[in-house]
Amino acid sequence: MDRYRIEPGKKFKLSDYSPDDLGDFEGKKQKGNEKLAEYRAEIDRLQELLYCEHKHRLLVVFQAMDGGGKDGTVRAVFDGVNPQGVRVTSFKVPTEIELDHDYLWRIHAQTPGKGEIVVFNRSHYEDVLVVRVHNLVPKEVWKKRYKQINDFEQQLAEEGTTILKFFLNISLDEQKERMLERLEMPEKRWKFNPGDLDERKLWPEYMSAFEDAIEKTSTKWAPWYVIPANRNWYRNLVVASVIADTMRSWKMQYPDPQIDVELYKKQLMES
Ligand code: AMP
Ligand code: MG
Repeated sequence: MDRYRIEPGKKFKLSDYSPDDLGDFEGKKQKGNEKLAEYRAEIDRLQELLYCEHKHRLLVVFQAMDGGGKDGTVRAVFDGVNPQGVRVTSFKVPTEIELDHDYLWRIHAQTPGKGEIVVFNRSHYEDVLVVRVHNLVPKEVWKKRYKQINDFEQQLAEEGTTILKFFLNISLDEQKERMLERLEMPEKRWKFNPGDLDERKLWPEYMSAFEDAIEKTSTKWAPWYVIPANRNWYRNLVVASVIADTMRSWKMQYPDPQIDVELYKKQLMES
């Protein structure tokens, strides 16, 4: 699944990445779902090790257009993981207090501690996406943020945080389908936000902003993955595989406290 990782320092064109791509799983949806179940079980096992070992920190960032599937991916990938082991943070329009601080203030406060997995549903990238598209701050301000974000993420990485960033890449047509579904299905209607239609009109501006953000901030310490997201099952599979591969590569071990097991067993039996 490395093919979806964006190489640092290279020119990046979104048009090279098809939202419909199914990689080696073309026509293999069932196999894809079986693999997903395996990765989920593995992530669950690795999460327990992560907690016990208390050494690594994992930060997973999701960004996408409306309807891109951020919520669905979180649900599908972390389904089955101990709910005590994963914390999900959604970043909304900043509050007055948040706006009084620098844009990374609220972000830093939510980063994972040792042994933790934290998932960001939206993130500091909103500050170079929606903020840029809507001119919420002048260009002189947002254009400095790419470097600031890289420095911030590098600091987190040097202190032991592994950062994985996923852009869920849907097409304009697929977004229309999903918005229609939100209007038509009573159980999805609550998700429809009329404001999303205004954002949809700004699709080209958003794509340029994503392209720039991904090109400028895919680093070796915090890479971006551009995930084909028109098919939910394949999107879930790719994201789960990247997370499982990353956690597996740490070769975590259960800590082995140097205690006299026999002695404590004896004491326990006699108690
Ligand atoms: P949702 O994720 O659908 O609940 O919507 C959250 C909304 O908050 C989206 O419209 C985001 O663009 C917006 N948002 C998140 N972060 C920021 C930010 N830093 N500045 C402005 N709007 C933001
Ligand atoms: Mg929304």
